[in-house]
Amino acid sequence: NLTTAILPPPIPANAVAPEKKGETVQQIEKLQKQREERRAQQDEIKKKREVERALDPGNPNYQFSVMIRDYQSNIDFRPLKITDSVQDTRISVCVRKRPMNKKEITRKDIEVVTIPKQDHVIIHQPQVRVDLTKYLDNQKFRFDYAFDENADNEMVYRFTAQPLVNSIFEQGFSTCFAYGQTGSGKTHTMGGNMATHETTTKTKQQDWSKGIYALASCDVFRLHRGEYRSLGLTIGCSFFEIYGGKVFDLLKNKNLLRVLEDGKREVQVVGLQEETVTSDQQVLDLIKRGSDMRTAGATSANSNSSRSHAVFQIILRRGNKLWGKFSLIDLAGNERGQDTGSSDRQTRMEGAEINKSLLALKECIRAMGRNSAHVPFRQSKLTMVLRDSFVGENSRTCMIAMISPTMASCEHTLNTLRYANRVKELGCEDGDNA
Ligand code: ADP
Ligand code: MG
Repeated sequence: NLTTAILPPPIPANAVAPEKKGETVQQIEKLQKQREERRAQQDEIKKKREVERALDPGNPNYQFSVMIRDYQSNIDFRPLKITDSVQDTRISVCVRKRPMNKKEITRKDIEVVTIPKQDHVIIHQPQVRVDLTKYLDNQKFRFDYAFDENADNEMVYRFTAQPLVNSIFEQGFSTCFAYGQTGSGKTHTMGGNMATHETTTKTKQQDWSKGIYALASCDVFRLHRGEYRSLGLTIGCSFFEIYGGKVFDLLKNKNLLRVLEDGKREVQVVGLQEETVTSDQQVLDLIKRGSDMRTAGATSANSNSSRSHAVFQIILRRGNKLWGKFSLIDLAGNERGQDTGSSDRQTRMEGAEINKSLLALKECIRAMGRNSAHVPFRQSKLTMVLRDSFVGENSRTCMIAMISPTMASCEHTLNTLRYANRVKELGCEDGDNA
């Protein structure tokens, strides 16, 4: 019975004993919490039902969706809440699942990803036996945080990039990566969500202020004006992309830039535009300018930007001296690394380059985690330009692995999770798939 399920259980008459006021308050709080949790669960179920309504028994995936629902009905859902505490780690690896989109619902694809609690992801991989009976291969993964389809960018930011902002004022070099298949939500997370503009007629535009680039910049200004005011630092931004192993300036006509290692073994991107900024609005303008530049001029804008890594940097200086740096990276689609079998030579070479850089990135973060003296940053342009971030004592990093919820993306999703799992091996408390 749904109506009674969402009501709190009646409070027993003897619960309000005047001499135990403290206990009563506790009791009420407990009941309130239980009610909130129940409500969240109900919402979850309601949403699932909506998606299922689009399904029907004639759908070839119907049986799988029933099996997944059965599996889910035995789970106690405890999603991450904005009020949960944020842990302090030098390397964190998180996962974000995006919601199904209209197209996926219309073509009757089904959701195969469950996020039961704040650090767990379950993939229900549909399988068929030789006798044609269907079954699910349920694979569990553990990460620092797992964000379900209800989490917004602000929530993701709070648990991923925000804890790293302070460290750049402490002379650190921090990085935040968005990793995943094309269409999984990397640009949505880093650049900003699509918002329908009230003024214009129904056109959707990216809301740059709600992306991790902008949210991090806001916090940098806040700390600069507050806690770290006395340092007298200046703030600058740069924005470039790495495409086919070459670096292009997104704030200056996509100029081709050279990467050099100088005598002090420091890596320089020669001639990279760095613009001083003093307000949130200025940063937003830069983000928009650079993002437009990234997708401009391509015959197929989408495929093009999915083959490049975009690097947005917030740079702190004291006088001319570099003080700290925060690099936020919207990586190339990881499925592009598999284009090595393409018949097109250009595509094949770009694919190989992407593959190489993502492997190098994984190795560099692993080396960082081991405090290894040898960080293999020379293996790709991407890791080369980020060298400081892997070797500095104050360096911290965070990777957000984006995943699509659908059955059609299941293989890519598993690849993404396996990669993320290798970057930081947390194992799984159940022991399987550790
Ligand atoms: P990527 O950069 O990884 O290729 P995008 O960020 O462009 O993927 O996302 C693909 C589509 O999905 C976009 O239309 C985006 O608005 C939408 N999308 C991605 N993540 C979410 C999310 N968490 N909530 C709602 N829509 C999302
Ligand atoms: Mg993108």
